[in-house]
Amino acid sequence: MTSANPAPADNAIDIGAHIRDAIREAIVERRLAPGTKLSENDVGSLFNVSRTLVRAALQALSYEGLVNVEKNRGAFVAYPSVTEAQQIFATRRLLEPVILREAAPHIGKAQIKELRELLAEEERLTNQRGAPARRAEIKASGDFHLAVAAISGNAILMRFMDELVARSSLVIALYGQSVISSCGHNEHQQIVDALEKKDVEGACTLMLRHIDHIEADLDLRLTKKGGGLRDAFHV
Ligand SMILES: [Zn+2]
Repeated sequence: MTSANPAPADNAIDIGAHIRDAIREAIVERRLAPGTKLSENDVGSLFNVSRTLVRAALQALSYEGLVNVEKNRGAFVAYPSVTEAQQIFATRRLLEPVILREAAPHIGKAQIKELRELLAEEERLTNQRGAPARRAEIKASGDFHLAVAAISGNAILMRFMDELVARSSLVIALYGQSVISSCGHNEHQQIVDALEKKDVEGACTLMLRHIDHIEADLDLRLTKKGGGLRDAFHV
């Protein structure tokens, strides 16, 4: 934005954040397929806002790696390559043990209770059928990793994890094979058990194994198709 532009009203910032969050959620929940064109006009009319606000929201999502903005072609839901997919999980293997070690000193009874409640919700969703339940379950399994990052209290680590979990969902949408959760529920359980016993190194080992399993479930030769913009928002 240049200095010639007037400062946007708080309301415009809120609307921009709302659009960004709604599109991010649709990508993370796999309602929007990788590669889907996000035309400024279509998104603008869906949310009933100006193209300027849409452009800013799409630009923000491109910084998170969820949207590609291409000159003269417009914006698309990112379509991660095999190399990118491997780099995302390699980064998670580096970062998530660090997050566990950072979170460990802050983990008491209340935090264990909070994590167990998340796992119970995951389990409830796993037992439900249908695409909406499946999407909610994928989101809930990502929420576990984000919750551990939140306990660390380190806002920078939380932002890194936000991006990595969102980009992982995109990779899983493209290359995932499992019908059931890409995040094994039992593995989350074992990590919480280790944390409860203050076995931080054990939790780190389990986390690395868990990330290996998520990656092993991907078939990096396959690509899948998903819904378009209007399907994603039920228009
Ligand atoms: Zn997981």
